[in-house]
Amino acid sequence: MLEFKGQVALVTGAAQGIGETIADRIESLGGLTVRADFREWEESLTELNQLRYGVRLDVTDSGQVKKTVKQVVSEFGKIDILVNNAGITRDGLLVRMKDEDWRMVLSTNLDGVFYMSREVVPGMMKKRYGRVVNISSVVGQMGNPGQANYVSSKAGVIGLTKSMAREVASRGITVNAVAPGYIATRMTEELNEKAKEQLENMIPLGRIGTSEDIANGVCFLASREAGYITGQVLGINGGMYM
Ligand code: NDP
Repeated sequence: MLEFKGQVALVTGAAQGIGETIADRIESLGGLTVRADFREWEESLTELNQLRYGVRLDVTDSGQVKKTVKQVVSEFGKIDILVNNAGITRDGLLVRMKDEDWRMVLSTNLDGVFYMSREVVPGMMKKRYGRVVNISSVVGQMGNPGQANYVSSKAGVIGLTKSMAREVASRGITVNAVAPGYIATRMTEELNEKAKEQLENMIPLGRIGTSEDIANGVCFLASREAGYITGQVLGINGGMYM
């Protein structure tokens, strides 16, 4: 049975969807969660209950990231678990893709992971313990037409995960990626019916994934029990990509 009692987790993009479910699960296993999201809550830490805090944070703003991480560490003394989950899509065919749509997606999905990790990892190094879990995507492994920006960012997250894992392994920190398949959240609601049907037909386990399916894998990688796993990409995709 996994347990996070006495541990502090920072989860980005945690106001809804996969991030919220991950934070809820860590909290239900005894961990204190700081839920950082773009639009919810105040800029300073807001106590939502004894184990649950919210803070407004835009992961694309390195200054804000620095300030927030400092705030969390000064309030709780440490960050044991970092889940880099915040992510966006701005889909379109490569030949018509606007500069802004390319940059926004790379900046949120890849720069955000870099900024967060750069600020959080030094504290973990001092404590000689840490778990970083980065949310990539199955399309970062497979490619996907109409998502050149998103796929590039998610493939980048895999490379960043492996490099970080090698840099910090000697300090007791593991860094892994989870690559979700097709998961029912607001992000995928936007897909048209034809695209949804096509995706479902590609899933050997025959169903769309849930946020809980992802939280299960993330919590395992974030646990003490996963201490001998680093630099890996855990596909949670119903067999869509093997
Ligand atoms: P949602 O859109 O439901 O949730 C993402 C959350 O991230 C939102 O609350 C959003 O805030 C927040 N966010 C966006 N930009 C920023 C930012 N700059 N700083 C802080 N927070 C931000 O998405 P999902 O829950 O579906 O996705 C979570 C992660 O899982 C993403 O990284 C996504 O790429 C990945 N993923 C999802 C899949 C799926 O099928 N759903 C498949 C594969 C990967 P706001 O609402 O205010 O914009």
